[in-house]
Amino acid sequence: MANDINPFESLQEQISDAAEYLPYATDVLERLKHPERVVETNLSVELDDGTVEVLRAYRSQFNGDRGPYKGGIRYHPQVTRDEVKALSGWMVYKCAAVNIPYGGGKGGIAIDPDDYSEAELERITRSFATELRPFIGVDRDIPAPDVNTGQQEMNWIKDTYETLENTTEPGVITGKAPDSGGSAGRVEATGRSVMLTTREAFDYLGKDIEGATVAVQGYGNAGSVAAKLIEDLGASVVAVSDSSGAVYNPDGLDTRAAKEHKGETGSLSGFEGATEELSNRELLTMAVDVLVPAALENAIDEDIARDVQAEVIVEAANGPLTPDADDVLTERDVHVFPDILANAGGVTVSYFEWVQNRQRFSWTEQRVNDELERVVTDAFDDLIEAHEDTDAPNLRTAMYVVAIRRVVNAAEQGGIWP
Ligand code: GLU
Repeated sequence: MANDINPFESLQEQISDAAEYLPYATDVLERLKHPERVVETNLSVELDDGTVEVLRAYRSQFNGDRGPYKGGIRYHPQVTRDEVKALSGWMVYKCAAVNIPYGGGKGGIAIDPDDYSEAELERITRSFATELRPFIGVDRDIPAPDVNTGQQEMNWIKDTYETLENTTEPGVITGKAPDSGGSAGRVEATGRSVMLTTREAFDYLGKDIEGATVAVQGYGNAGSVAAKLIEDLGASVVAVSDSSGAVYNPDGLDTRAAKEHKGETGSLSGFEGATEELSNRELLTMAVDVLVPAALENAIDEDIARDVQAEVIVEAANGPLTPDADDVLTERDVHVFPDILANAGGVTVSYFEWVQNRQRFSWTEQRVNDELERVVTDAFDDLIEAHEDTDAPNLRTAMYVVAIRRVVNAAEQGGIWP
């Protein structure tokens, strides 16, 4: 894994690549490449043994031209200021790509949540929520889950915010548990958009998904749901991995049983439905029709990209390819369906959750899934149209062309002031 590649530089390179197909002046492009502001804070948190630890936490508000800043909060030891900046920028272009009325933001705390008890994680989360209170709000900045955070953390943030503000405002945060104002279908939404993108991709490329082979790198919320839903399309998921390594069965894995095994034992390793265990690199370079990177940034570097055998890559993670890997895959005619489309289901159903919270009215799961399907298929059509119209060298650049146009239109319609 190319850990030395700075994701913020990757984001800026992706914007520069798309700029070649857009008529904008340098000052406009410069604005698209930098966050409006980054909040950096140190959280002093009391641990269960009475000692106090100081934790580094960030929230980047990248661009608010199209609506409130929107994006998750991750807990991971690799969190840095630049990583959060990059992730917040990807949120801007993701929301624009699928045309939902949000800007982009992202937050993170540099911790390994496995090192803390539940009570400590609650204090950490409430402390961060307290620090963020002046910067977030239902019309200002709306956090959500990301790597290693989920409904519980969102419920704590909502409760902290509402208590401090002496109000009820569930739309200040999305990804909550259903009884705390969460939306039906939100947990599965990221994996669902990965499935929908894969389905549309096969249709566009004139290939049959029935019997196609799939490998999924990363078996958290995005990867495990994507694997299950792609299996339901009739494809054969032959390999899946987590940080313990990959499990493989040439006749296809039972993705639900694999998830159960991981839930029970903490990892995929030892899964009885597999015939073989492989390394992460072996999974990424195996002979399959579709590869779904669903873990962290920079999973596929230039060196791995040269050995990739899949014809189609659908990005469930944010930023899983380094820019050099992207160039290699473009040269090799591998079809890469970009993160800002493929994993946009999460933020799209967050948007539906926010709409429901504001209306104080709940939708059925069927309605959520139908609306999500419409959003993803419309964005897919916009992508293909832009790819054909611009001659952009790959699908990522074409999707950025669509997204950047929308952001710049909103900015220009507002004008520069003060
Ligand atoms: N963390 C998710 C993402 O990267 C979802 C963000 C949201 O729901 O606001 O897209």
